Amino acid sequence: MIKTGKLAVLGSINADHILNLAHFPRPGETVIGKQYQIAFGGKGANQAVAAGRAGADIAFIACVGEDDTGERVRQQLAVDRIDVAPVAVVPAMATGVAMIFVNGEGENVIGIYAGANAALTPQRVEQHQQVIGEASALLMQLESPLESVLAAAQIARQHDTHVILNPAPAAALSDELLSLIDIITPNETEAEILTGIPVKNDDDAARAASWLHNKGIATVLITLGSRGVWLSEQGQGQRIAGFRVTAVDTIAAGDTFNGALITALLEGQPMTQAVRFAHAAAAIAVTRAGAQPSVPWREEIDHFLA
Ligand code: ADP
Repeated sequence: MIKTGKLAVLGSINADHILNLAHFPRPGETVIGKQYQIAFGGKGANQAVAAGRAGADIAFIACVGEDDTGERVRQQLAVDRIDVAPVAVVPAMATGVAMIFVNGEGENVIGIYAGANAALTPQRVEQHQQVIGEASALLMQLESPLESVLAAAQIARQHDTHVILNPAPAAALSDELLSLIDIITPNETEAEILTGIPVKNDDDAARAASWLHNKGIATVLITLGSRGVWLSEQGQGQRIAGFRVTAVDTIAAGDTFNGALITALLEGQPMTQAVRFAHAAAAIAVTRAGAQPSVPWREEIDHFLA
């Protein structure tokens, strides 16, 4: 059980450049876009914003570049109720960037430049021992250097801080890192890359969850898009369906789910209730365009569930 209390999020910050096109360009082809916008993103920042708007008491450990984007991102994060004192401004580096193409079917292809996110080194993580130690839970993703994610998980373990990892983007992880995680939240693709087990149905999800339990992870939550999640803990697995909504785009669905889930758990909500809360937050997010602009505030989630 997680103690109620503060949240630390460690992760990435990107400026998302989103270009809507009729179809994706082939190599050598130029396609004129229909719409273009810059929005703040990065899985770390999206999850921090989701938690902040959902009502968590949250500090965010991250890096931005010494540029105008970095300054604007820090200001915006503060508006989203996030303590940005641990967001470092790294001299002579650019804030991370994601170039996102969205086609007429709402599918996306994404290229990322890490920029200042690469400066979130284990040494820098060490400087935030206190932030991690004072939190009841630490939420991370995989857009930060892996050795830094490991260092943060080790600090968390020393301080009895619960570690929740959203293993995205997909990667195979060391047994050492897996053994330090309390809750893991892969989607189907990420679960397959972690475990080698393709996740196509509930039985597959149960097998992938067992694999992860065997690595020492107590709670496994595999997100299944519009089908909800597979929740596995204490030797029991069950699928918890999500809410039916008309999807506009699913950008940041998983990020919203993770930020809302940990917020509810830190309030002392039982796991199944926290999953329902997170489903509601993510369902609202998929009815809206973009990453952070789509993330709901607490009043909206409560209203959705009422
Ligand atoms: P990711 O965005 O990381 O790939 P998923 O697609 O599995 O994650 O979605 C995460 C959560 O977002 C789901 O568990 C569900 O709560 C919600 N969600 C995703 N897609 C839909 C949808 N089409 N309708 C309703 N909820 C959705």
